[in-house]
Amino acid sequence: RAKSQGRNTYGFYTEDLTRSASRRLELETRLRRALANGEFVLYYQPVKAVADGRLLGAEALVRWLPPGEPMVSPADFIPIAEETGLIVPLGEWVLRTACAQLREWLDAGYPAGSVAVNLSVEQIRRSDMETLLRDVLAETALPAHRLELEITESSLMEHGDQAETLLSALKALGVGLAIDDFGTGYSSLAYLKRFSIDKLKIDRSFVKDLADDRNDLAIAAAIVAVARALDISVQAEGVETEAQLGLLHELGCGVFQGYLCSPPLPADAFRERFLAPGRT
Ligand code: C2E
Ligand code: MG
Ligand code: MG
Ligand code: MG
Repeated sequence: RAKSQGRNTYGFYTEDLTRSASRRLELETRLRRALANGEFVLYYQPVKAVADGRLLGAEALVRWLPPGEPMVSPADFIPIAEETGLIVPLGEWVLRTACAQLREWLDAGYPAGSVAVNLSVEQIRRSDMETLLRDVLAETALPAHRLELEITESSLMEHGDQAETLLSALKALGVGLAIDDFGTGYSSLAYLKRFSIDKLKIDRSFVKDLADDRNDLAIAAAIVAVARALDISVQAEGVETEAQLGLLHELGCGVFQGYLCSPPLPADAFRERFLAPGRT
């Protein structure tokens, strides 16, 4: 009895594994095809100064638009892309597209500022980011300081030693480096200095209840204090209310993004709303 139960359990287990493995494989195949068919698109979310609402730039965020189906969020495909290595060609497309877009806006005379691109450490690990960056900046004639690379705190900590060498090479090109989702990882402060980080992005989870939760307020205040002490700029993500913005201002957080200003928008909508208001 125990034996057959064991066998059943085993059978169920493998069936489950096979199902999820085949779903992954299917998704991988679809992602590969999506890249070839141009089904990915970049959305842009404005990044603004807390003090006066001046536009500083945009964060590029990738979306997948499978024809005839609802838009897929990056949270649902970036992890698979990372596991399968597809993050390398996808990330390359994102970087090139974002830089080309900013170049187009600058050429049109818009004060578009800078563009932030999310990098996966998996992408850095598996490819020659330094050469790619150099090529894309040259192709688009984009000054390096107009590009900011965002890397999540948790992924940075996971790949600490390797990341250090790579990031310092990227830094040497003159691009900005931001730590994304700051406060959710191990928060070892030593690496902020080591990596010569330019910006900390306070994770949305601390901003959400800023007005009601004293702990979140304390954490946000601590992040701002650390950043200031190290001469690093601070950006809050996920700002949805005036109350949150007011508190961030009081804390001395200089930069923000969030639905209060705008959700991420397709490039044309971003241009119409933030770069050329009143024009078409
Ligand atoms: P992230 O880089 O931390 O991006 C911020 C996320 O918060 C975005 O979700 C954005 O739409 C969302 N957001 C912005 N403001 C608000 C707000 O006021 N309230 C709420 N509730 N959410 C807000 P999104 O676009 O779904 O992206 C999720 C994550 O996927 C990103 O988090 C980033 O880690 C990853 N990702 C997106 N695009 C790329 C990419 O091109 N490459 C890589 N490697 N990762 C990407
Ligand atoms: Mg980001
Ligand atoms: Mg973030
Ligand atoms: Mg996030």
